[in-house]
Amino acid sequence: MKNFLIFVFLISFTLAHAQEINFYGEAKEGGIIIGIGKNISSVVLNKQKLLFDKSGMFIFGFDRDAKGKQKLKVTFKNKKTKTFVYDLEKREYETQSLKLARKYVVAPKRELNRIRKEAAKMKAARAKTGKLRTAMYSSGFAYPLDSVKITSVFGSQRILNGRKANIHNGLDFSAEEGDSIRAISGGIVRIAGDDFFYNGNFVLLDHGQGLSSVYLHMSKLLVKTGQKVKKGEVIGLVGATGRATGPHLHLGVQWYKKRIDPMSLFEIKF
Ligand SMILES: [Zn+2]
Repeated sequence: MKNFLIFVFLISFTLAHAQEINFYGEAKEGGIIIGIGKNISSVVLNKQKLLFDKSGMFIFGFDRDAKGKQKLKVTFKNKKTKTFVYDLEKREYETQSLKLARKYVVAPKRELNRIRKEAAKMKAARAKTGKLRTAMYSSGFAYPLDSVKITSVFGSQRILNGRKANIHNGLDFSAEEGDSIRAISGGIVRIAGDDFFYNGNFVLLDHGQGLSSVYLHMSKLLVKTGQKVKKGEVIGLVGATGRATGPHLHLGVQWYKKRIDPMSLFEIKF
C-alpha cells in the first residue's frame, strides 16, 4: 500500500510538471497556429504576451505580409522554458484585375459622413475583441456555407479599372441569395451591423484570444450584438448588400490586427 501511494504521488508529480506542448497549423504568411500545452505559465510571441485558457489552449497568427523568423517562448509553471522559432514560408499572391462601374470604385461624396460613422462603429466593435481569455474556437473550424465555391482567394492584389486598389483580405464564396451563413466556430457577436455602406448587413464574431471573423453582404441578419453562437449556427443569409456586385459571402479573419487567410483555419485538424 505504501509503495502504491508513493507510485501515485510520483505519477501525479510527473503529470503536474509535464512540459508537454502540441501545435496545429502552419507557419506561413497569413497562417494560424493553435497550441495546447500543460502547466503553462506564460506564452510570448516575439514581444507579445498571448492569452491562454484553463485547458492550456492558445492561438497565434502571422499577417499576410509577415516576414522572417518569429520566436515563440513558452514558460512552464516549474520555470522551465521552451523556445520555438518559425521561419515563415513565403507566399505568392495573385493579382486580380477587375473592370467595374465607377459606383463600385469611388464612394460618392454624400456618403462620406456615413462611411466615417460606420468606420468608428466597426473600430469600437473590433476593440472589444482580443480580451476574451477563453478559446471559444476549441471545437475547431468549419466552412460558413453548406456548398463551398471559392471565387476569390485571400491576399490578392486588386487592380480596379487599371489602378492598384485594396488587397483582398478574405475569401469570397459564391452562393445563392438566401443561403444560410454559419459561424465558422464558437464565438460572441461583437457587432451585427445593419446596412453599412461597404459591408452591408454583416456580423463580427469574437472567437477569443484575439481571433475574429467577419461575414459581409448578408441579405438578412439572424443574430444580435452580444449574442453567443456555436460553431455551425446560422447567423445570417447570403445577399448582396453594401458594396457587392452580386450575392456572395466575403469571409474575413483577423488575429488582433493581423490579416489571416481563412483557409489556414479550415486546414487545421486537431
Ligand atoms: Zn471579398
